Amino acid sequence: MTPWEQPVWTRLLESLAQQRLAHGLLFCGPADGGQAELAARLAEYLLCSQRVDGAACGTCRSCHLRLAGSHPDLRRIRLLERDDGRLKTEIGVEQIRELSQWLSLTAQFGGAQVALIEPADKLNVSAANALLKTLEEPASNRFLLLVTDATDRLPATVRSRCQRVEVRLPPADTGLQWLHAQGVSAADAERALKLADGNPRRALILRQDGGLQRADEVWRDLGALSTGRELPTRVAQRWMADAPEDRLSMAVRWVCAQAKSSGEKGRLTPQADFHKLAAWVQQANEARRRWSAPLRHELLLTGLLLSWQESNR
Ligand SMILES: [Zn+2]
Repeated sequence: MTPWEQPVWTRLLESLAQQRLAHGLLFCGPADGGQAELAARLAEYLLCSQRVDGAACGTCRSCHLRLAGSHPDLRRIRLLERDDGRLKTEIGVEQIRELSQWLSLTAQFGGAQVALIEPADKLNVSAANALLKTLEEPASNRFLLLVTDATDRLPATVRSRCQRVEVRLPPADTGLQWLHAQGVSAADAERALKLADGNPRRALILRQDGGLQRADEVWRDLGALSTGRELPTRVAQRWMADAPEDRLSMAVRWVCAQAKSSGEKGRLTPQADFHKLAAWVQQANEARRRWSAPLRHELLLTGLLLSWQESNR
């Protein structure tokens, strides 16, 4: 567990010890902020029959079953797969109805019954309404752990019936120290943490999945486009082949950082053209919003890169 999650965990254990732990808990924080890990940890802890030092033992029968993914008193509600193998975009009402039925049964191990719902912000309206009924009828030793990185997308009625468990990002030096302890070099840690908006867990993922290299490529591509050394169609093709959405948000980040940085060094655009940058960032953010819709992404990206080239000409 990270040092900044530890106090949140300690408070959870205190609530549990004082029998103040709510029936519904909302684990929230930034994307990859560690709230999912905390919720999973609490589920493990609640189910374990031989807890040791504020953690699940990992060796009791309950822990074995949980590790094998077959604990009868643990349910995971998530986005189901569609026929074409992609994930559905919503958690449906049937999933929640089935969960409520399951919660009305007696726990097979005689202990807690735990449901993990993630991402909770993907509950559709009927599913959220169905969940509301369950949240309004708390039963002892039944826990609903909702996990989200978009709390405001949950209906206020659901939010207000849950105890909020929030993970907040640590100060930069705590994050850097933690990254260093994970084997990340000082230079990489600093870059990755910046790219991840100060979120150390996200920074670690970025570094592990080639995010730093991608950021370099995006920066190079934007530079090559603005000097006419590269064609928007070619860059769009390359971006489409590997993490296009990620590259798009990196491009926006770079352009914003560039606009903010003082001094001409490292800039692609003269100060006089900043209004053009602002317009482009707006366009890019609009593209990011539209990305989840079924549309021709490569065309969208090519248009955006073309407009980048033109606004830098
Ligand atoms: Zn155990």
